[in-house]
Amino acid sequence: MIEQIEQRLAELDKQDLLRHRRVTATPCAAVMNVDGRTMLAFCSNDYLGLAAHPQIQHALQEGVTLYGAGSGASHLISGHSKAHAQLEERLAAMQSPYLEQARALYLSTGYMANLAVLSGLAATDPGQAEIFSENLNHASLIDGAKLARCKVQVYPHADLIALENLLQQSGASTKIVVTDSVFSMDGVIAPLPEILALCERYNAWLVIDDAHGFGVLGDGAGILSHFNLRSKNIVYMGTLGKAAGVSGAFIAAHGSVIEWLVQKARPYIYTTAAPPALAHALLTSLDIICGAEGAQRRTHLQGLIKQFKTAIGSEVGGMSLLASDTQIQPLIVGENHLAMQLAARLYERGIWVPAIRPPTVPVGTARLRVTLSAAHSSAQVATLLSELDGLQKKAA
Ligand SMILES: *Cc1c(COP(=O)(O)O)cnc(C)c1O
Repeated sequence: MIEQIEQRLAELDKQDLLRHRRVTATPCAAVMNVDGRTMLAFCSNDYLGLAAHPQIQHALQEGVTLYGAGSGASHLISGHSKAHAQLEERLAAMQSPYLEQARALYLSTGYMANLAVLSGLAATDPGQAEIFSENLNHASLIDGAKLARCKVQVYPHADLIALENLLQQSGASTKIVVTDSVFSMDGVIAPLPEILALCERYNAWLVIDDAHGFGVLGDGAGILSHFNLRSKNIVYMGTLGKAAGVSGAFIAAHGSVIEWLVQKARPYIYTTAAPPALAHALLTSLDIICGAEGAQRRTHLQGLIKQFKTAIGSEVGGMSLLASDTQIQPLIVGENHLAMQLAARLYERGIWVPAIRPPTVPVGTARLRVTLSAAHSSAQVATLLSELDGLQKKAA
């Protein structure tokens, strides 16, 4: 038993697949104390630099004063506080231009939100639902599809023809297409207007995971605003621990979809509600995202993305840059050990960029995942660029 685990761990080690957690001792920011060292970090999903924002920290403290530390129960028992309700109203209002009769549901994590959406939608048509899942979807969507216990078809990345063929051939009475909006490890944006057109033609739900778009794209409201999509077929999921800087996630959809999820989605029902103080802090985060400061932070972030892409071109040090226009700028390395080596070399130089390996990404596409944030200065991005350039010189 223990020996078998130890053998499995040794196998992972041999394939350069063992993961190690670094311990941070300061708030999430551009410069952090990591395992006792001062590091310039390009790792987090805190894209607007709100995770340590003084006003949000203050709101979190105020939330604890108003509502205490814990919610004490699940939402359907006694854990649903005024702060949760206010947050859901604000989130629904943000997405209401893009949905009909919009309502929103706040959940503890995006992982759980994806389990809730897919299992919940499939449960509207027991035994008759089919899920069409994009090849590069996040692990939580893959797990959500498993929990839905229905037929799952995986379509190749951004392949509209393959998706249409699958929809055409399907005899399912409930069809659910599901995709990331911004792919978490690639940074590229899914062709959502075209996917939505297919969903409307074939009468399918379109579940959109906007973990990396909410707060950043479309004036902060996310991908639906970015593309100006509007449809009653859309079920939207946004996370609140990334650009929003706090914790949790939400589903926004037609009010009847949300009511169904409240009744039936087990990942929503059978868990203690997140602390109301988090929801209270998120109200301040949304004020910032939707206000002038949010716009200013997004403009600054766009400037950094441009600076990074222009300086690198398409290649540096044997690594190739993906064609991403978002804050996620991965450098594809290929082999696991090489990605680990390059990340270690940067780390020695005081730059923290994570190496991402399978199964998070396909085998043979290990990469350095650079994420830019409004918390970075242009000078800090210049430091990263010159260190990457140094890798190139050493490699040559
Ligand atoms: C981070 C992420 C999630 C999970 O959200 P959490 O709130 O961190 O659980 C879901 N989908 C995608 C695409 C993500 O990147």
